[in-house]
Amino acid sequence: MWRIRIHGRGGQGIKTASQIIGSAGFYSGFQAQDFPLYGAERRGAPVIAFTRISKDPVLERGPILSPDIILIGDETLLNDPQSAPLCGAEPSTIIFVNSDRTPESLKHNFTVMAINLTDLCIQYLDNHTVYSSALSAVGARLLGIIELPDLLQAVEDELTGVSSKVMKGNLDLARKIFEVIQPAVVSEKVNKPLIAKQLVFPQHRPVIEAAPIILQPGNMALRKTGNWRVERPEIDYEHCNNCLICYARCPDGVIGVDSDGRPEIDYDHCKGCLICAQECPGHFINTVRETGMFP
Ligand code: SF4
Ligand code: SF4
Repeated sequence: MWRIRIHGRGGQGIKTASQIIGSAGFYSGFQAQDFPLYGAERRGAPVIAFTRISKDPVLERGPILSPDIILIGDETLLNDPQSAPLCGAEPSTIIFVNSDRTPESLKHNFTVMAINLTDLCIQYLDNHTVYSSALSAVGARLLGIIELPDLLQAVEDELTGVSSKVMKGNLDLARKIFEVIQPAVVSEKVNKPLIAKQLVFPQHRPVIEAAPIILQPGNMALRKTGNWRVERPEIDYEHCNNCLICYARCPDGVIGVDSDGRPEIDYDHCKGCLICAQECPGHFINTVRETGMFP
């Protein structure tokens, strides 16, 4: 069985990438399983997705703890302890990071490969935040067992509802990545037999015991969601007229008002949804791409 784990952020097409790899593996004659794992958060929140591909029926379930390939769609996740994309990596694990940095400068103890997928997505899709076809093409190519026509068929099947122009861009992008990346040697690991342990019978408990009880005060401020941003809003104070519409519209309440009555963004907690930039009547909030959080 080959196991692939994909890390990215909500809105980047991480779940779709796992589906494309699974479908492509199926078209290439394998059994496949794919699924995502994410909470109730929205765009920008860390997301994980998994794909298992095997010559035999895939009986294994649950998250992949020791992947053969790790695909990381956003390099800022490397420094996010709650995402921990390298967790479970072994010396043989192939790690791919979407980054314009050299692998050495990523400063991790694993051998990683890095390509700037974001620039390729801009070139082929005119979009720098959706990596579904790009990351799936990387995964399929690295595996070395999936044929290009099967990958392209999977892209067509999974990206339903997009315009013909967007579809063509995604197919061209997948072809390009197949050219750029060479297959890695990923040997199929022997499936371990699944042995049923003791069966667990759920018990009905009184509601007072079974329902969640919040015992601690709120701690949202401690969760620094600023590293979820793909793009950063920057207020153009030369033109801003302090109407404070952005203050009212920010869904996370992270735009405050300074002592001079001007809007002030709390970058530790701004998730980069960019609603403020859309709502500013004079378009006085610029957007700047985040390029990573490395020292
Ligand atoms: S991008 Fe703007 S609206 Fe969104 S969280 Fe940040 S400050 Fe608030
Ligand atoms: S909405 Fe625009 S003009 Fe109004 S306070 Fe915010 S940045 Fe300034």
